[in-house]
Amino acid sequence: MSAACIFCKIIKGDIPSFKLFESDKVFAFLDIQPLSKGHALVIPKYHGAKLTDIPDDHLSELLPVAKKIAQAVGATDFNILQNNGRIAHQVVDHVHFHMIPKPNETEGLGIHWPTQETDMDKLKALFEEIKAKM
Ligand code: AMP
Ligand code: ZN
Repeated sequence: MSAACIFCKIIKGDIPSFKLFESDKVFAFLDIQPLSKGHALVIPKYHGAKLTDIPDDHLSELLPVAKKIAQAVGATDFNILQNNGRIAHQVVDHVHFHMIPKPNETEGLGIHWPTQETDMDKLKALFEEIKAKM
């Protein structure tokens, strides 16, 4: 728990939310500025800013809950989004997974997807480098 964190305050009940789900390790609620109808956030109760700050056993339940909400909303097309860092569009520094229904072209998440040229030699070198650290 972080005293200054808005999502920790939501978990504690100090700030109200439209709570969809709660368990020992997970909390889920409707996003207050939705990109589409049913936009929800699924968060670990463990406070940490980035995905890499959260222990594995606090991560395992998050996607099943996001899936449950997507089904409850009746979303057939949707995005699961988890931003890390300001430049990656993170505003709230408590890890959260967005479940954003994509009902049509204009509502929901819009994605800029700037693909880069593929150099297979460089890709293979990168692959070897990453694999060696896993
Ligand atoms: P991000 O840009 O990934 O950090 O997203 C933060 C999200 O938190 C935004 O979609 C906000 O609308 C949402 N948000 C911020 N404050 C609240 C709140 N009090 N209740 C519900 N959602 C919130
Ligand atoms: Zn927090």
